Amino acid sequence: MKFLSFSIDSSEENEADGCETGFGFLDSNGETVREIYSYPYDGAAIEETGRTFSLDSVTLLAPVEPSKVVAIGLNFKAHAAEFDKELPKEPMLFLKPSTSVIGPGGSIVYPSHMSYRVDYEAELGVVIGRRTHEVSVEEAADHILGYTCVNDVTARDLQGRDVQYTRAKSFDTFAPIGPWIETELDPTDVLIESYLNGEVRQSTSSSDMVFNVFELVSFVSHVMTLLPGDVIATGTPSGIGKMKPGNTIEVRIAGIGSLVNTVVARPEGADV
Ligand code: MG
Repeated sequence: MKFLSFSIDSSEENEADGCETGFGFLDSNGETVREIYSYPYDGAAIEETGRTFSLDSVTLLAPVEPSKVVAIGLNFKAHAAEFDKELPKEPMLFLKPSTSVIGPGGSIVYPSHMSYRVDYEAELGVVIGRRTHEVSVEEAADHILGYTCVNDVTARDLQGRDVQYTRAKSFDTFAPIGPWIETELDPTDVLIESYLNGEVRQSTSSSDMVFNVFELVSFVSHVMTLLPGDVIATGTPSGIGKMKPGNTIEVRIAGIGSLVNTVVARPEGADV
């Protein structure tokens, strides 16, 4: 199933329910959104509201509002090699704040007041489905709701200058997520790609990960409790590169779909 979050133009709605945003899943026809009251976190049943919308008529939002995005550094062998880094002996974690999250079609704002080098990083995102604390690798699958596309946007110059990754990874709009959460996916061998202005830049299977999805969920859960809707960005393959205002960047993952965003300049006069 594909779970998604959306907004609708309320002027087209009977105001009886008055709801402008909602959750839903994509019907098997691939064209109809069937609204639900909430995601089936903690194994809850899926309850439909009875309303349906055509996919064309809704605006997709980030499919989750995570309390945190836990990101993994250097988790692809060829990516570690392109930075001339040794493979990590255990997962390398950092956080992206909830305020960096944007949805499909949202704009990545280039932080030109601080950075001159902003990169895309296509990543497989794991969406947590239930409270997850100190679970084993074998238990991890039961704690995953599904998978989505993430762009771990990075101010590469600041990453090099700061000891911590926080500033480089945390600007508002630096965590595009979407277009939806796919629950039917074997994450061990899926193609992860990025396209800059339509040209392929990254294209590697998740089988190149140093630590797989289940190992990561288990490892992170022994550091911090993961909550429903939290996202783990599982690391990017080789081929990262820079973006500029006006560029379109797409993260495409086989079996999930495409997350497309544009890069825009900061508003005139916003620079300090
Ligand atoms: Mg990354």
